[in-house]
Amino acid sequence: MASDSKRKININGKDIEYVFKRTKGSKSVRLAVYQDGRFVVTAPRWYPIYVVNKFIEEKSQWIFDKVKDVDFDLLREKKADESAEYKKYVKLARVVIAGRLEFFNRYYGFAYKRVAIKNQKTCWGSCSRKANLNFNYKIIKLPDELRDYVIVHELCHLRELNHSRNFWGLVAQTVPDYRELRRRLRNIKN
Ligand SMILES: [Zn+2]
Repeated sequence: MASDSKRKININGKDIEYVFKRTKGSKSVRLAVYQDGRFVVTAPRWYPIYVVNKFIEEKSQWIFDKVKDVDFDLLREKKADESAEYKKYVKLARVVIAGRLEFFNRYYGFAYKRVAIKNQKTCWGSCSRKANLNFNYKIIKLPDELRDYVIVHELCHLRELNHSRNFWGLVAQTVPDYRELRRRLRNIKN
């Protein structure tokens, strides 16, 4: 559980945007700068904001060096493009994914709850402990066999929430060439 807010600091005359998160788990303030330029500050729930601000100020040169080359306008544009694309594809993705899930689950017969179509950066799909399935809408743009592999992969996590031999055994029952597909998928950027 976390609550995020967007903030800005000015360092050396440059406005630097960051996401501020309060989390239960953390014990101290943490700064993270990601490759895509996102700058995230995490602080424990109970930390007074002035302590957080002071910490950021003390680290400002380090932050500046890390993010000085980031083009925030370009990032913002990219994000807007992405969310427009998500809106365009999400309905279609929901229908296609539901259909393929039903198709493969006629064989497996696993029980799942919610199916969510998300706009994610890093993963194609996931399965939660509570038997909810999540899929990246971008799998709609994959070749059919890769999309099916992602769907079967997450479906099989309903039985095996790991990547054990048993898990791959389940996947192989409907996608025998999963190794090859997995390799191809790894080479596609989502
Ligand atoms: Zn997996």
